Amino acid sequence: MPKIRLEPVRGMRDIIPEESTEILWLERKFAEVAELYGYEPVIAPTVELFSLFEVKSGPEIRRSMYVFQDKAGRTVCLRPELTASMARIYLRRLQTLPKPVKIFYVGSAFRYEEPQRGRYREFIQAGVEYLGEEGVAADIELLLLIRDYLREIRFVDYSIKLGHMGLFRDLFSMWGIPEDVQDEIIHYIDKKELERATTLLSEYPKAKPEVINELSKCKGSDPQKLTSCAESAGLPEEVMKHVELLAHVTKVTQALGIPEVYADLGFARGLAYYTGLIFEIVPKKALSLSVGGGGRYDTLVSLYGGPATPATGFALGIDRIHLTLKESGWSLPERKIKVMLVSLESDIYGYVDRVATALRSAGVVVNVFPRPKLSSALRVASEKGYDYAVIIGRKEVEGGYVTLKDLRERKQKIVTVEELRKEVVKAE
Ligand code: AMP
Repeated sequence: MPKIRLEPVRGMRDIIPEESTEILWLERKFAEVAELYGYEPVIAPTVELFSLFEVKSGPEIRRSMYVFQDKAGRTVCLRPELTASMARIYLRRLQTLPKPVKIFYVGSAFRYEEPQRGRYREFIQAGVEYLGEEGVAADIELLLLIRDYLREIRFVDYSIKLGHMGLFRDLFSMWGIPEDVQDEIIHYIDKKELERATTLLSEYPKAKPEVINELSKCKGSDPQKLTSCAESAGLPEEVMKHVELLAHVTKVTQALGIPEVYADLGFARGLAYYTGLIFEIVPKKALSLSVGGGGRYDTLVSLYGGPATPATGFALGIDRIHLTLKESGWSLPERKIKVMLVSLESDIYGYVDRVATALRSAGVVVNVFPRPKLSSALRVASEKGYDYAVIIGRKEVEGGYVTLKDLRERKQKIVTVEELRKEVVKAE
């Protein structure tokens, strides 16, 4: 038999404890916070028709997609992000619900990128979509949800960068640039390749590439300064409303306790479906890569054939959040008490189950060790970092008690099944 290669495919990872435990916790917390804001979960397929993404993903994502033919010859892909699926599902199943429709998801996304630290070919995105509401209050709610989630998981020291796709789209349309070329230019701006963007722009006689260059210098959180910078960059009056909106959101969100929010008029996001306010969450230390981003996409649903539906949303990269946290010395803020239950007899299932259930119902981890060799059970329990061992033999069953061993303090006592729960839980 040929030797099986044990390494995962390049760019893919095997995630094992403790990392996997931490990542699952981060996902669960996200779901909890999203639910507290009134979002409901949607589970989407991992495989979609390529055409769903062909319309409006932007050149960057399209280039890095896993695309293949299935056995029936359909051109399908592994989803590179989840918003397109959410818009599709909204259109197919949710659009008749009273608006706004607020949904969230947690799931894998796939991009065939060059693997590096914090960049994988399969990664987890956690995000929300807020559909059917055009007001800026929806966008601000997204930022508040992010604030609460990051606070809950103890992710501090980040800033939120705001931008507005309307600035670019309106300017480019005024300059007579076709939409597919706009997408390409926006891709370059997103990649900070301004020269390529301005070179492309200069092929159009009405375009003023210097405005794009000047706009990229306008950033900050002072509304007055932003407006005057945009004016001196030569931004036409008709487009100034976007800068005013940015100044407004910056002011409001800062007052709401988001640590650092600033607007950057030269900031664009590569996904071509964005139409309005956009944002990215950037950790101040460790990784300089963004840990999340989002924005308004008011035309995607109608592009898929639905009615005009304003929408906004974001996706956080759970792997990058985890990596950033670990680099700052983070460990799980919530820890469960762990008990190794050593059953010394093979015919006492009922008693063991009663004890285990009493503890588990109080949120205690109970790992039943089935081999009646006490010394090896206790060694394993200590090595695995368990807090207690509960030992049950014939004597205990007959007397209606258990032997409780505190593995940290190395003390042992006999307690009744009723006392056990209080004894174990109170110790924390
Ligand atoms: P995007 O919409 O492309 O900005 O992706 C949203 C978030 O997903 C990013 O801010 C990252 O946190 C995460 N992300 C995107 N691509 C990758 C990747 N290749 N590996 C890990 N995380 C990623």
